[in-house]
This record gives sequence, C-alpha cells and structure tokens, in this order.
Amino acid sequence: MIKLFSSYYKPHKKLFIIDMLCAFFMAVIDLVFPMVTRSLFNDILPNGKIRTFYILIGTLFILYILRAIFNYVVDYWGHVVGTRMEADMRNDLFSHIQTLDTKYFDETKTGHIMSRVVNDLREISELAHHGPEDLFLSVIMIIGSFIILLNIEWRLTLIIFAFIPMMIWFAIKKREKMSNAFRNVRKKIANVNSQLENSISGIRVAKSFANEEYEMRKFFEGNREFKESREFAFKSMAEFFTGINFLSNLLNLLVIAVGGMFVYRELITLGDLVAYILYINFFMQPVRRLTQFAQQFQLGMTGFERFVQILDIKPEIVDKENSIELKNVKGDIELKNITFSYNQKETVLKNINLSINAGETVALVGPSGGGKTTLCHLIPRFYDIEAGDIFIDEINIKDIAIKSLRKNIGLVQQDVFLFTGTIKDNILYGKPEATDNEVISAAKKANIHEFIMKLPNQYDTHIGEKGVKLSGGQKQRISIARVFLKNPPILILDEATSALDNESEIKIQEALEKLSKGRTTLVIAHRLSTIRNADNIVVLTDKGIQEQGNHDELMKKQGLYSRLYKLQFHNITDEIT
Ligand code: ADP
Ligand code: MG
Repeated sequence: MIKLFSSYYKPHKKLFIIDMLCAFFMAVIDLVFPMVTRSLFNDILPNGKIRTFYILIGTLFILYILRAIFNYVVDYWGHVVGTRMEADMRNDLFSHIQTLDTKYFDETKTGHIMSRVVNDLREISELAHHGPEDLFLSVIMIIGSFIILLNIEWRLTLIIFAFIPMMIWFAIKKREKMSNAFRNVRKKIANVNSQLENSISGIRVAKSFANEEYEMRKFFEGNREFKESREFAFKSMAEFFTGINFLSNLLNLLVIAVGGMFVYRELITLGDLVAYILYINFFMQPVRRLTQFAQQFQLGMTGFERFVQILDIKPEIVDKENSIELKNVKGDIELKNITFSYNQKETVLKNINLSINAGETVALVGPSGGGKTTLCHLIPRFYDIEAGDIFIDEINIKDIAIKSLRKNIGLVQQDVFLFTGTIKDNILYGKPEATDNEVISAAKKANIHEFIMKLPNQYDTHIGEKGVKLSGGQKQRISIARVFLKNPPILILDEATSALDNESEIKIQEALEKLSKGRTTLVIAHRLSTIRNADNIVVLTDKGIQEQGNHDELMKKQGLYSRLYKLQFHNITDEIT
C-alpha cells in the first residue's frame, strides 16, 4: 500500500524534492539562532567585538529572509503537491467507479460512495505533503539540537531530553482523543442534517398525521446528541492544550532549575543556559508537528485504505480479448435458456427462451416482480446471466465489445433520469457531436419541441436544481428525444408504471411508435391498450413465460393475458365513470 501511495508522488517528484529541501533549510536556520545568541553572551558582548556583532546581525537578517522564502515554498508549494496528488487519486477513483458493475451500485449507497470520493481523499492530501515534511523537520530539529546541546553539557542535556518522549507520548494520546471526539461531532451533525432533510421533505406527511410532536422529539434527540458530542470534543481539546502548555512550562522550569544549578556550580556559562532555554522552547514545534503527523498518518491512511479497497473491486462484466465491434446491426435477438438471479436466495428468471426478429415489436407483460425489467437489463449486459446465452444477429453478446453493444441499444427506462444541466445537454447525451438541427429534429419526433420552445430559455433552459421542474411525461419525452438522436437499431422501452395524464400519455405513445419504426423493439407495457399491435406479446410471471402470441390469438386463448386485459379495461372504465 505504501508503494501505491508513493507512486502518486512520481509526477510531482521535482516539486516534492524542492519542498523537502526547503523544509530542511528551514530547520537548519532555526537551529542557528540559539547558537548565535550563545556566542553573543559567552564571547562577543563580554569581549566587546562590535564588528563581529554587526556581521552576525547582518547574517541573521539574510538568513531570515531566506527562511521566509523557504517557508513560503513549503506552505504554498507543499500544499500544491498534496492537492495535485489528491486530484490525481480522485480522478483515478472516479474513473474506476465508472467501470464498476451495476451490481456494485445496487449494493452501495450513493452517500457512501460520495464520502469515499470527496472526504476520504481530503485527509490524504494533508498527509501527502505534511507527513514527510513534518517528520523530516521534527527529526532534524530534535536530533540537531540534541547534538548541539550534548556538546555544551551532556549531563544537563540527558536530564532534559529524558522529558521529551513523555511529552510526545502525552500529546499523541490526547490528540487522538481529541480528533476522535471531533470526528464524532461530524457524525452527529450529519445525523442532524439528514434528520432535518427528512423531516422537512416529509413535512406534509407529518402534518397530515398531526405528528409534529413526534418529529420534534426525534429532532431534539439528535440535536442533544450533537450538543453532547461537541461538549465532549471541547473537553478533550481543553485537556490537550492545557496539558501541552503545562508540560512545556514544566520543561522550562526543569531547564531553569537544573540549568541554574549547573551555572551556579560553574559547569556551564550564562550564555549556555540561554542557549538551552531557546532550544527547549523550539521543541514545542517538533512536538506539535510530530503529534500532528501521528494524527494525520492515522486519518490519511484509513482514508487511503478505503481508496485502495475500492480500487481493488474489479468489474466482472468486461470485454473479452478480441471482442467484436458490431457493424450494421440488423437486430435479431435470441434468448436461449436464460437463467438469472441477483442473489443466491431466489432465481428471478429461469429457462427463458425468446426470439425476436429484426424490426419486430415484442411486448412483455405480466405482474409486477415477474422479472420484466430484469430481462431487459440482461441484453445490454447490466448484469451477466448465470446460464444460457443471448445473441444479437447470431453473435453471443459476451463476445461483443460492451461499448459497441450498448451503442446499438436504446433504452428508455422506467424512471427517467435527467442530468443537471440544460435540456439540450440532456438530449445531446444521446450523441454528443450532434448539431443543433439534429437535436431539434429529435425533440420534434419525441413530441417535446413545442413544449421546449415555450420555456424561458428554450433549449438552454436549466433543469433540476435551480431550474424548471418537469413533469414525469415531459421527462419521458426528453429521454425519448435522447434515444432518437442515438438512433440505435435495437430499442428497449420500460414503460413508466406511474399513471400519466391523458395528454402526456397520447404524446408519448405517438413518439414511441415513431421511435420503434424500423427497429427491433422490446417493450414492457403496463397499459395493455398500447400494445395491441405488437407482433408478439409475451406474458412473463415469476414462473417463467406463461404464454405468447399476438393480441387476437391471446384473447382467443382466454388465458392470463385475456384476464389481465379485461381486468384493466374494467379498471379504466371504472376510473372514467
Ligand atoms: P418487473 O419489472 O417485472 O416488475 P423486476 O425485474 O423489476 O420485475 O423484478 C424481478 C424480481 O427481482 C423482483 O423480485 C425484485 O424484487 C428483484 N429485483 C429487481 N431488481 C433487483 C436488484 N437490483 N437486486 C436484487 N433484486 C432485484
Ligand atoms: Mg419493472
């Protein structure tokens, strides 16, 4: 894992090395000041070497200007390295997620994926540059000052340094507690947020059940937990800072007390003691950096582990070697002995056989949960079948390049999804390089052009967030326009289950009829009136294909279809009267 992590440094190697060099020089310059002060007290001032004094001051001034430059590089370009690495990782992660199977998205909550991509990686960028930097700076400063002090008086140095590990240990422990506490606060605020969102979106339901009190109690509870988690976080923050301050004061006291004794016994000079005091106060910086590093390492690595976990998920549905690119598809579809299940528990489709000739329209009907949508999703390989084969123009779909397969299939799904953006963007999704005229012509065929022209910005009207809201029927027609533009030889229509108003219904029906002309069409119909003209009607239940034939044949047969048909017909007349 460290190896994978380091590989992300590679493209930014130059910047990273510059960053580390600057950090190194910063540490060295910091180490100089106490030494200068020491010789000021020990030698230069007592002996009146005023020229040396001026030279020293001048040198220090130049060093501090250099240090300011290094500091700027570390703070700015160091962050840049981290940010670029984070962006690279985020792109890799997103690209990888795009390749994952539909199954992964069935099983994983969107919010979960979002926090993987957005939050987890944020911790990594901090670690990526601060980590090595902090470690490097601290080690140089601690070792450097240790050696320098050791040369002045080794006993005093050892006494003082015995104190340092304890301080670091204390700081790391308390800091860990503090950051856990703050993480808990973030979790609680997320709860409050989702609770709030849920309650507000459901406010009409809450009101209709007169359940405001209940909603309030739920909210108060979440808010109380949030408040308590914050109180605890502030408590651990207070412990951390008070502890660190107290310990550093103790350290100062130790230096003055023991060092004072050493001066009194004339083991060291006053200038040496001043150097000790200055170096010891420097220590607070590495101690802070090291504790920060410990925490960042923990956070960053957990994030990175989760990043690697996702990268390790491999899609199962991938192109074979030498996969075939489809050309001039006629549109014959053949399903042979198909068996499929989402999980071990139940088999959704069993031994299904179905053949559709090029250009034909086949309708799938049957009770909800019978597996109609599932069957349609098997053709573009959203899921792979367990047993059996599907052929398009007598080529097994497993041998076809997946992109080529999907380019030849137009899918109008049950619940239409439109992306945030303009209407035009959404139609262009079917063929990104299409001209404006092609877009308009597709919209006209989909019976949505007139509606679009009435919108404030016409084709450039934003939909979704901050834009116009569209009805279910209008969304459907935009998604149909999208498929007109794509112009695939094979069409799969999953009719919306929710009822549309009559006008929408007629417009959509017209558009779909136009769309399916000259294409092989598999349509899942909920309103049986719409499929009277289908070449073949297949009744699918959880027990498999029950019967098939055209409308007249099935009506004559007086089986399931004729029962469903009559039932629906009655319902409709019921609704009308
Ligand atoms: P229909 O479209 O005929 O109403 P579906 O194909 O949607 O039926 O569903 C068939 C069966 O498969 C149902 O029992 C449903 O619960 C199950 N199912 C559908 N989609 C999934 C999924 N993504 N994961 C697991 N089970 C599913
Ligand atoms: Mg369905």
